[in-house]
Amino acid sequence: MKIAVVGTGYVGLVTGTCFAETGNTVTCIDIDENKVNKLSAGEITIYEPGLEKIFLRNLKEERLFFTTDLAKGVENAKVIFLALPTPPGEDGSADLKYVLGVAAELGRIIQPGQYKVIVDKSTVPVGTGERVEAAIIESSKAALGNGQDLKTLGAFDVVSNPEFLREGVAVDDFMKPDRVVIGAGSDKARKLMSDLYAPFVRQGNPVIFMDLRSAELTKYAANSFLATKISFMNEIAQLCERLGADVDMVRRGIGSDERIGKRFLFPGIGYGGSCFPKDVQALVKSSGEVDYDFKILNAVMDVNEKQKLHLFHRIRNYYGDDLSGKQFALWGLAFKPNTDDIREAPALYIIDALINAGATVTAYDPEAMSNVKRLIGDKISYAENQYDCLNNADALIIATEWNEFRTPDFLKIVRNLKKKVIFDGRNLFDVVAIQELGFYYESIGRPTLTAK
Ligand code: NAD
Repeated sequence: MKIAVVGTGYVGLVTGTCFAETGNTVTCIDIDENKVNKLSAGEITIYEPGLEKIFLRNLKEERLFFTTDLAKGVENAKVIFLALPTPPGEDGSADLKYVLGVAAELGRIIQPGQYKVIVDKSTVPVGTGERVEAAIIESSKAALGNGQDLKTLGAFDVVSNPEFLREGVAVDDFMKPDRVVIGAGSDKARKLMSDLYAPFVRQGNPVIFMDLRSAELTKYAANSFLATKISFMNEIAQLCERLGADVDMVRRGIGSDERIGKRFLFPGIGYGGSCFPKDVQALVKSSGEVDYDFKILNAVMDVNEKQKLHLFHRIRNYYGDDLSGKQFALWGLAFKPNTDDIREAPALYIIDALINAGATVTAYDPEAMSNVKRLIGDKISYAENQYDCLNNADALIIATEWNEFRTPDFLKIVRNLKKKVIFDGRNLFDVVAIQELGFYYESIGRPTLTAK
Protein backbone atom coordinates (compact mmCIF):
# COMPACT_ATOMS: atom_id res chain seq x y z
CA MET A 1 0.00 0.00 0.00
CA LYS A 2 1.17 3.57 -0.61
CA ILE A 3 1.22 5.58 2.59
CA ALA A 4 2.10 9.11 3.61
CA VAL A 5 3.12 10.20 7.11
CA VAL A 6 2.96 13.93 7.81
CA GLY A 7 5.34 14.91 10.64
CA THR A 8 8.58 12.97 10.99
CA GLY A 9 9.34 13.21 14.70
CA TYR A 10 9.39 10.45 17.32
CA VAL A 11 6.00 9.05 16.27
CA GLY A 12 6.09 9.84 12.54
CA LEU A 13 9.54 8.39 11.89
CA VAL A 14 8.80 5.18 13.78
CA THR A 15 5.38 4.85 12.11
CA GLY A 16 6.75 5.46 8.63
CA THR A 17 9.71 3.12 9.07
CA CYS A 18 7.65 0.29 10.55
CA PHE A 19 5.01 0.49 7.83
CA ALA A 20 7.81 0.39 5.23
CA GLU A 21 9.24 -2.64 7.03
CA THR A 22 6.01 -4.56 6.34
CA GLY A 23 6.30 -3.89 2.60
CA ASN A 24 4.40 -0.65 2.14
CA THR A 25 5.82 2.30 0.21
CA VAL A 26 5.97 5.19 2.61
CA THR A 27 6.63 8.88 2.06
CA CYS A 28 7.32 10.93 5.18
CA ILE A 29 6.68 14.64 4.96
CA ASP A 30 8.10 17.28 7.28
CA ILE A 31 8.38 21.07 7.14
CA ASP A 32 11.85 20.87 8.67
CA GLU A 33 14.07 20.89 5.59
CA ASN A 34 17.21 20.09 7.54
CA LYS A 35 15.56 16.99 9.03
CA VAL A 36 14.30 15.84 5.62
CA ASN A 37 17.75 16.30 4.05
CA LYS A 38 19.42 14.33 6.80
CA LEU A 39 16.89 11.49 6.66
CA SER A 40 17.03 11.32 2.86
CA ALA A 41 20.83 11.03 3.17
CA GLY A 42 20.50 8.12 5.59
CA GLU A 43 21.21 10.07 8.77
CA ILE A 44 18.80 9.21 11.56
CA THR A 45 17.50 12.23 13.50
CA ILE A 46 16.42 10.66 16.81
CA TYR A 47 17.88 8.04 19.09
CA GLU A 48 15.52 5.09 19.32
CA PRO A 49 16.90 1.57 19.87
CA GLY A 50 16.56 -0.66 16.79
CA LEU A 51 15.22 2.09 14.55
CA GLU A 52 18.35 2.96 12.59
CA LYS A 53 18.81 -0.53 11.22
CA ILE A 54 15.33 -0.85 9.75
CA PHE A 55 15.34 2.79 8.67
CA LEU A 56 18.50 2.23 6.61
CA ARG A 57 17.23 -1.06 5.19
CA ASN A 58 13.97 0.45 3.98
CA LEU A 59 15.66 3.55 2.63
CA LYS A 60 18.01 1.32 0.62
CA GLU A 61 15.19 -0.87 -0.64
CA GLU A 62 13.35 2.28 -1.74
CA ARG A 63 10.28 1.76 0.35
CA LEU A 64 10.93 4.85 2.49
CA PHE A 65 11.12 8.41 1.17
CA PHE A 66 11.31 11.87 2.71
CA THR A 67 10.13 15.20 1.35
CA THR A 68 9.06 18.68 2.42
CA ASP A 69 6.50 18.77 -0.38
CA LEU A 70 3.11 17.81 1.04
CA ALA A 71 1.36 17.69 -2.34
CA LYS A 72 3.99 15.38 -3.80
CA GLY A 73 4.16 13.29 -0.65
CA VAL A 74 0.45 12.49 -0.48
CA GLU A 75 -0.16 12.28 -4.24
CA ASN A 76 -0.61 8.54 -4.54
CA ALA A 77 -1.12 7.67 -0.89
CA LYS A 78 -4.20 5.68 0.07
CA VAL A 79 -3.66 6.40 3.73
CA ILE A 80 -2.28 9.68 5.12
CA PHE A 81 -1.15 9.64 8.76
CA LEU A 82 -0.94 12.89 10.70
CA ALA A 83 1.84 12.56 13.29
CA LEU A 84 2.03 16.25 14.07
CA PRO A 85 2.80 18.05 17.33
CA THR A 86 -0.09 18.89 19.65
CA PRO A 87 1.75 20.94 22.27
CA PRO A 88 -0.04 22.56 25.18
CA GLY A 89 -1.42 26.00 24.40
CA GLU A 90 -1.23 28.81 26.94
CA ASP A 91 -4.36 27.60 28.74
CA GLY A 92 -3.19 23.97 28.85
CA SER A 93 -5.47 22.72 26.06
CA ALA A 94 -3.90 20.91 23.09
CA ASP A 95 -2.86 23.35 20.39
CA LEU A 96 -4.36 22.03 17.16
CA LYS A 97 -2.84 24.54 14.77
CA TYR A 98 -0.50 22.00 13.16
CA VAL A 99 -3.17 19.33 12.72
CA LEU A 100 -5.88 21.67 11.44
CA GLY A 101 -3.38 23.59 9.30
CA VAL A 102 -2.29 20.43 7.50
CA ALA A 103 -5.94 19.31 7.20
CA ALA A 104 -6.79 22.56 5.42
CA GLU A 105 -3.79 22.11 3.10
CA LEU A 106 -4.90 18.56 2.31
CA GLY A 107 -8.33 19.89 1.33
CA ARG A 108 -6.67 22.05 -1.29
CA ILE A 109 -4.27 19.35 -2.51
CA ILE A 110 -6.26 16.12 -2.66
CA GLN A 111 -7.84 15.39 -6.00
CA PRO A 112 -11.31 13.86 -6.11
CA GLY A 113 -11.46 10.44 -7.70
CA GLN A 114 -8.89 8.73 -5.50
CA TYR A 115 -10.29 7.73 -2.10
CA LYS A 116 -7.98 8.47 0.82
CA VAL A 117 -8.13 7.83 4.54
CA ILE A 118 -6.76 10.66 6.68
CA VAL A 119 -5.60 9.14 9.94
CA ASP A 120 -5.01 11.19 13.03
CA LYS A 121 -2.17 9.63 15.01
CA SER A 122 -1.44 12.72 17.06
CA THR A 123 -2.93 12.86 20.54
CA VAL A 124 -5.92 15.15 20.12
CA PRO A 125 -8.99 16.15 22.16
CA VAL A 126 -12.35 14.57 21.53
CA GLY A 127 -14.03 16.17 18.51
CA THR A 128 -10.78 16.84 16.60
CA GLY A 129 -11.60 14.21 13.95
CA GLU A 130 -14.78 16.14 13.18
CA ARG A 131 -12.81 19.38 13.01
CA VAL A 132 -10.25 17.81 10.66
CA GLU A 133 -13.09 16.67 8.41
CA ALA A 134 -14.67 20.13 8.49
CA ALA A 135 -11.33 21.81 7.66
CA ILE A 136 -10.83 19.52 4.66
CA ILE A 137 -14.39 20.10 3.45
CA GLU A 138 -14.07 23.84 3.77
CA SER A 139 -10.77 24.25 1.93
CA SER A 140 -11.73 21.72 -0.75
CA LYS A 141 -14.89 23.72 -1.44
CA ALA A 142 -12.77 26.77 -2.19
CA ALA A 143 -10.38 24.70 -4.33
CA LEU A 144 -12.99 22.75 -6.31
CA GLY A 145 -15.60 25.49 -6.84
CA ASN A 146 -19.14 24.77 -8.06
CA GLY A 147 -20.23 24.12 -4.46
CA GLN A 148 -18.43 20.77 -4.53
CA ASP A 149 -16.35 19.36 -1.70
CA LEU A 150 -14.21 16.26 -1.21
CA LYS A 151 -16.57 14.68 1.34
CA THR A 152 -19.70 14.73 -0.83
CA LEU A 153 -17.56 13.39 -3.68
CA GLY A 154 -16.63 10.45 -1.44
CA ALA A 155 -12.92 11.24 -1.68
CA PHE A 156 -11.93 10.78 1.98
CA ASP A 157 -12.74 9.60 5.47
CA VAL A 158 -11.14 10.68 8.71
CA VAL A 159 -9.99 8.02 11.17
CA SER A 160 -8.56 8.28 14.67
CA ASN A 161 -5.70 5.87 15.37
CA PRO A 162 -4.02 7.04 18.57
CA GLU A 163 -0.43 5.92 19.08
CA PHE A 164 0.60 4.09 22.24
CA LEU A 165 4.30 3.53 21.54
CA ARG A 166 6.76 4.32 24.31
CA GLU A 167 9.96 6.13 23.49
CA GLY A 168 12.93 3.86 24.20
CA VAL A 169 11.03 0.75 23.05
CA ALA A 170 9.08 2.41 20.25
CA VAL A 171 9.98 -0.01 17.47
CA ASP A 172 8.98 -3.03 19.54
CA ASP A 173 5.79 -1.33 20.64
CA PHE A 174 4.90 -0.49 17.06
CA MET A 175 5.78 -3.87 15.60
CA LYS A 176 4.05 -5.80 18.40
CA PRO A 177 1.38 -3.53 19.81
CA ASP A 178 -0.69 -4.63 22.83
CA ARG A 179 -3.65 -3.35 20.86
CA VAL A 180 -4.46 -1.11 17.94
CA VAL A 181 -7.29 1.37 18.49
CA ILE A 182 -9.14 2.58 15.44
CA GLY A 183 -11.97 5.07 15.56
CA ALA A 184 -13.77 5.11 12.24
CA GLY A 185 -17.25 5.74 10.91
CA SER A 186 -16.97 4.03 7.53
CA ASP A 187 -16.58 0.38 6.52
CA LYS A 188 -14.23 1.32 3.69
CA ALA A 189 -11.86 3.08 6.08
CA ARG A 190 -12.09 0.24 8.63
CA LYS A 191 -11.16 -2.30 5.94
CA LEU A 192 -8.11 -0.32 4.78
CA MET A 193 -6.88 0.15 8.34
CA SER A 194 -7.46 -3.48 9.12
CA ASP A 195 -5.38 -4.57 6.09
CA LEU A 196 -2.60 -2.15 6.97
CA TYR A 197 -2.30 -3.38 10.56
CA ALA A 198 -2.74 -7.10 9.84
CA PRO A 199 1.02 -7.88 9.83
CA PHE A 200 1.41 -6.31 13.27
CA VAL A 201 -1.31 -8.31 15.05
CA ARG A 202 -0.65 -11.78 13.72
CA GLN A 203 -0.28 -13.13 17.25
CA GLY A 204 -3.85 -12.18 17.98
CA ASN A 205 -3.49 -8.89 19.78
CA PRO A 206 -6.70 -7.02 19.19
CA VAL A 207 -7.51 -4.30 16.70
CA ILE A 208 -10.26 -2.52 18.56
CA PHE A 209 -12.69 -0.65 16.34
CA MET A 210 -14.78 2.11 17.82
CA ASP A 211 -16.23 5.49 17.03
CA LEU A 212 -13.92 8.47 16.52
CA ARG A 213 -14.70 10.21 19.79
CA SER A 214 -14.10 7.12 21.91
CA ALA A 215 -10.76 6.49 20.17
CA GLU A 216 -9.66 10.05 20.84
CA LEU A 217 -10.60 9.76 24.51
CA THR A 218 -8.97 6.32 24.85
CA LYS A 219 -5.52 7.83 24.35
CA TYR A 220 -6.01 10.52 26.99
CA ALA A 221 -7.56 8.01 29.38
CA ALA A 222 -4.59 5.64 28.98
CA ASN A 223 -1.93 8.30 29.59
CA SER A 224 -3.85 9.89 32.44
CA PHE A 225 -4.34 6.53 34.14
CA LEU A 226 -0.60 5.77 33.91
CA ALA A 227 0.27 9.23 35.23
CA THR A 228 -2.16 8.61 38.09
CA LYS A 229 -0.36 5.38 38.95
CA ILE A 230 2.95 7.24 39.08
CA SER A 231 1.65 10.08 41.25
CA PHE A 232 -0.06 7.56 43.54
CA MET A 233 3.21 5.72 44.10
CA ASN A 234 5.06 8.99 44.61
CA GLU A 235 2.61 9.81 47.40
CA ILE A 236 3.06 6.36 48.92
CA ALA A 237 6.83 7.00 48.79
CA GLN A 238 6.34 10.30 50.59
CA LEU A 239 4.43 8.45 53.29
CA CYS A 240 7.14 5.77 53.51
CA GLU A 241 9.74 8.45 54.14
CA ARG A 242 7.67 9.87 56.99
CA LEU A 243 6.57 6.56 58.49
CA GLY A 244 9.81 4.61 58.23
CA ALA A 245 8.47 2.12 55.68
CA ASP A 246 10.28 0.99 52.51
CA VAL A 247 8.47 1.73 49.24
CA ASP A 248 10.25 -1.17 47.50
CA MET A 249 8.57 -3.58 49.89
CA VAL A 250 5.19 -1.89 49.58
CA ARG A 251 5.53 -1.91 45.78
CA ARG A 252 6.25 -5.64 45.75
CA GLY A 253 3.49 -6.26 48.22
CA ILE A 254 0.83 -4.57 46.14
CA GLY A 255 2.21 -5.32 42.66
CA SER A 256 1.78 -9.05 43.06
CA ASP A 257 -1.97 -8.48 43.21
CA GLU A 258 -3.06 -9.07 39.62
CA ARG A 259 -5.70 -6.38 39.88
CA ILE A 260 -2.93 -3.85 40.52
CA GLY A 261 -0.11 -5.28 38.40
CA LYS A 262 3.66 -4.93 38.75
CA ARG A 263 4.26 -2.21 36.21
CA PHE A 264 4.31 1.55 36.67
CA LEU A 265 4.68 1.28 40.43
CA PHE A 266 8.13 2.82 40.70
CA PRO A 267 8.36 6.10 42.58
CA GLY A 268 10.83 8.70 41.39
CA ILE A 269 11.23 12.38 40.62
CA GLY A 270 7.95 12.88 38.79
CA TYR A 271 6.75 11.94 35.32
CA GLY A 272 8.07 13.97 32.40
CA GLY A 273 8.37 13.60 28.66
CA SER A 274 6.37 15.02 25.82
CA CYS A 275 3.17 13.13 26.60
CA PHE A 276 2.07 12.64 30.21
CA PRO A 277 2.37 16.25 31.39
CA LYS A 278 0.62 17.72 28.37
CA ASP A 279 -1.99 14.99 28.01
CA VAL A 280 -3.10 15.06 31.65
CA GLN A 281 -3.32 18.84 31.43
CA ALA A 282 -5.28 18.70 28.18
CA LEU A 283 -7.78 16.18 29.58
CA VAL A 284 -8.37 18.39 32.63
CA LYS A 285 -8.92 21.30 30.27
CA SER A 286 -11.31 19.30 28.04
CA SER A 287 -13.22 18.22 31.15
CA GLY A 288 -13.59 21.85 32.24
CA GLU A 289 -14.99 22.74 28.84
CA VAL A 290 -17.90 20.36 29.44
CA ASP A 291 -18.34 21.56 33.04
CA TYR A 292 -16.68 18.58 34.63
CA ASP A 293 -14.12 19.03 37.37
CA PHE A 294 -11.72 16.07 37.00
CA LYS A 295 -10.58 16.11 40.62
CA ILE A 296 -8.22 13.11 40.52
CA LEU A 297 -6.23 14.49 37.60
CA ASN A 298 -5.85 17.89 39.21
CA ALA A 299 -4.30 16.10 42.19
CA VAL A 300 -2.11 13.98 39.89
CA MET A 301 -0.64 17.15 38.36
CA ASP A 302 -0.22 18.79 41.73
CA VAL A 303 1.63 15.78 43.17
CA ASN A 304 3.87 15.62 40.10
CA GLU A 305 4.84 19.29 40.32
CA LYS A 306 5.93 18.77 43.93
CA GLN A 307 7.71 15.49 43.22
CA LYS A 308 9.90 17.05 40.53
CA LEU A 309 11.66 19.08 43.22
CA HIS A 310 11.49 16.55 46.05
CA LEU A 311 15.08 15.39 45.56
CA PHE A 312 16.29 18.99 45.37
CA HIS A 313 14.57 19.74 48.69
CA ARG A 314 16.33 16.78 50.23
CA ILE A 315 19.65 18.01 48.89
CA ARG A 316 18.93 21.39 50.48
CA ASN A 317 17.97 19.75 53.75
CA TYR A 318 21.35 18.09 53.71
CA TYR A 319 23.50 21.12 52.80
CA GLY A 320 21.34 24.06 53.85
CA ASP A 321 19.59 26.62 51.62
CA ASP A 322 22.70 28.21 50.14
CA LEU A 323 24.42 25.83 47.77
CA SER A 324 27.05 28.26 46.52
CA GLY A 325 30.41 26.63 46.16
CA LYS A 326 28.81 23.20 45.89
CA GLN A 327 29.46 21.15 42.78
CA PHE A 328 27.12 18.32 41.75
CA ALA A 329 27.57 15.47 39.31
CA LEU A 330 24.32 14.63 37.54
CA TRP A 331 23.80 11.26 35.90
CA GLY A 332 20.94 11.31 33.41
CA LEU A 333 19.27 14.12 31.47
CA ALA A 334 16.73 12.32 29.26
CA PHE A 335 13.23 12.10 30.72
CA LYS A 336 13.66 8.33 30.75
CA PRO A 337 16.30 5.81 29.64
CA ASN A 338 16.93 4.74 26.04
CA THR A 339 15.87 8.03 24.50
CA ASP A 340 17.47 11.38 23.72
CA ASP A 341 14.17 13.14 24.43
CA ILE A 342 14.47 15.84 27.10
CA ARG A 343 11.01 17.37 26.83
CA GLU A 344 9.76 18.03 30.38
CA ALA A 345 12.65 15.97 31.76
CA PRO A 346 12.74 16.10 35.59
CA ALA A 347 16.55 16.55 35.39
CA LEU A 348 16.03 20.00 33.86
CA TYR A 349 13.95 21.13 36.85
CA ILE A 350 16.59 19.87 39.26
CA ILE A 351 19.33 21.67 37.30
CA ASP A 352 17.40 24.94 37.45
CA ALA A 353 16.82 24.64 41.17
CA LEU A 354 20.49 23.79 41.88
CA ILE A 355 21.81 26.66 39.77
CA ASN A 356 19.36 29.11 41.36
CA ALA A 357 20.59 28.00 44.78
CA GLY A 358 24.17 28.83 43.73
CA ALA A 359 25.50 25.36 42.89
CA THR A 360 27.37 24.23 39.77
CA VAL A 361 26.48 21.09 37.84
CA THR A 362 28.36 18.71 35.56
CA ALA A 363 26.12 16.26 33.74
CA TYR A 364 26.50 13.06 31.80
CA ASP A 365 23.86 11.31 29.69
CA PRO A 366 24.58 8.63 27.07
CA GLU A 367 22.28 10.16 24.42
CA ALA A 368 20.64 13.40 25.54
CA MET A 369 23.59 15.77 26.08
CA SER A 370 23.47 17.45 22.67
CA ASN A 371 19.75 18.23 23.08
CA VAL A 372 20.41 19.74 26.52
CA LYS A 373 23.37 21.73 25.18
CA ARG A 374 21.08 23.15 22.52
CA LEU A 375 18.53 24.11 25.17
CA ILE A 376 20.61 25.52 28.04
CA GLY A 377 24.14 25.74 26.61
CA ASP A 378 26.90 26.31 29.15
CA LYS A 379 24.62 26.81 32.13
CA ILE A 380 26.07 23.45 33.17
CA SER A 381 29.18 21.50 32.15
CA TYR A 382 29.09 18.21 30.28
CA ALA A 383 31.29 15.21 30.90
CA GLU A 384 32.67 12.67 28.42
CA ASN A 385 31.62 9.76 30.55
CA GLN A 386 29.86 8.92 33.78
CA TYR A 387 33.06 8.80 35.85
CA ASP A 388 34.68 12.04 34.59
CA CYS A 389 31.37 13.63 35.53
CA LEU A 390 32.18 12.97 39.21
CA ASN A 391 35.49 14.87 39.34
CA ASN A 392 35.52 17.36 42.21
CA ALA A 393 31.81 16.92 42.86
CA ASP A 394 30.44 17.10 46.39
CA ALA A 395 27.75 14.54 45.54
CA LEU A 396 26.28 12.45 42.76
CA ILE A 397 22.64 12.99 41.75
CA ILE A 398 20.88 10.35 39.64
CA ALA A 399 17.98 11.55 37.50
CA THR A 400 17.56 8.89 34.77
CA GLU A 401 17.72 5.11 35.19
CA TRP A 402 20.01 4.26 32.27
CA ASN A 403 21.14 0.65 32.56
CA GLU A 404 24.80 1.64 32.61
CA PHE A 405 24.21 3.51 35.87
CA ARG A 406 22.79 0.44 37.61
CA THR A 407 25.97 -1.45 38.34
CA PRO A 408 28.73 1.14 38.20
CA ASP A 409 32.33 0.78 39.37
CA PHE A 410 31.93 2.05 42.92
CA LEU A 411 35.71 2.25 43.40
CA LYS A 412 35.87 4.78 40.58
CA ILE A 413 32.97 6.68 42.11
CA VAL A 414 34.78 6.83 45.45
CA ARG A 415 38.00 7.89 43.76
CA ASN A 416 36.43 10.74 41.78
CA LEU A 417 33.82 12.18 44.14
CA LYS A 418 34.98 14.59 46.84
CA LYS A 419 32.59 13.02 49.35
CA LYS A 420 30.78 9.68 49.29
CA VAL A 421 27.30 11.18 48.93
CA ILE A 422 24.58 10.06 46.51
CA PHE A 423 21.08 11.43 45.97
CA ASP A 424 19.28 8.87 43.85
CA GLY A 425 15.99 9.91 42.24
CA ARG A 426 15.53 6.48 40.60
CA ASN A 427 16.28 4.02 43.42
CA LEU A 428 19.03 2.27 41.46
CA PHE A 429 21.03 0.81 44.32
CA ASP A 430 20.37 -1.54 47.19
CA VAL A 431 20.04 0.60 50.30
CA VAL A 432 21.98 -1.73 52.58
CA ALA A 433 24.75 -2.63 50.11
CA ILE A 434 25.54 0.95 49.14
CA GLN A 435 25.63 2.11 52.70
CA GLU A 436 27.98 -0.75 53.57
CA LEU A 437 30.32 0.74 50.97
CA GLY A 438 30.39 3.84 53.12
CA PHE A 439 28.14 6.07 51.06
CA TYR A 440 25.65 8.51 52.49
CA TYR A 441 22.70 7.55 50.28
CA GLU A 442 19.28 9.11 49.92
CA SER A 443 16.70 7.62 47.60
CA ILE A 444 12.94 7.91 47.12
CA GLY A 445 10.62 6.36 49.71
CA ARG A 446 13.35 4.17 51.22
CA PRO A 447 15.21 4.49 54.49
CA THR A 448 18.49 6.39 54.75
CA LEU A 449 20.53 4.19 57.05
CA THR A 450 23.67 6.19 57.62
CA ALA A 451 23.72 9.48 59.49
CA LYS A 452 24.78 12.65 57.71
P1 NAD B 1 7.71 15.58 17.37
O1 NAD B 1 7.77 16.99 17.78
O2 NAD B 1 8.85 14.66 17.66
O3 NAD B 1 7.45 15.50 15.79
C1 NAD B 1 6.56 16.30 15.09
C2 NAD B 1 7.12 16.57 13.70
O4 NAD B 1 6.12 17.29 12.95
C3 NAD B 1 8.37 17.45 13.70
O5 NAD B 1 9.38 16.80 12.96
C4 NAD B 1 7.92 18.74 13.00
O6 NAD B 1 8.94 19.35 12.24
C5 NAD B 1 6.80 18.23 12.12
N1 NAD B 1 5.86 19.23 11.67
C6 NAD B 1 5.35 20.32 12.33
N2 NAD B 1 4.48 20.98 11.54
C7 NAD B 1 4.45 20.32 10.35
C8 NAD B 1 3.75 20.54 9.13
N3 NAD B 1 2.91 21.55 8.98
N4 NAD B 1 3.95 19.66 8.12
C9 NAD B 1 4.80 18.63 8.27
N5 NAD B 1 5.49 18.38 9.40
C10 NAD B 1 5.32 19.22 10.43
O7 NAD B 1 6.37 15.01 18.02
P2 NAD B 1 6.07 13.48 18.43
O8 NAD B 1 6.69 13.19 19.75
O9 NAD B 1 6.35 12.59 17.28
O10 NAD B 1 4.50 13.57 18.70
C11 NAD B 1 3.57 13.71 17.63
C12 NAD B 1 2.17 13.45 18.19
O11 NAD B 1 2.09 12.09 18.66
C13 NAD B 1 1.77 14.31 19.39
O12 NAD B 1 0.41 14.57 19.34
C14 NAD B 1 2.08 13.41 20.57
O13 NAD B 1 1.30 13.74 21.70
C15 NAD B 1 1.70 12.06 20.03
N6 NAD B 1 2.38 10.91 20.67
C16 NAD B 1 3.71 11.00 20.98
C17 NAD B 1 4.34 9.89 21.55
C18 NAD B 1 5.79 9.96 21.93
O14 NAD B 1 6.24 9.07 22.66
N7 NAD B 1 6.56 10.94 21.47
C19 NAD B 1 3.63 8.72 21.78
C20 NAD B 1 2.30 8.66 21.41
C21 NAD B 1 1.69 9.76 20.86
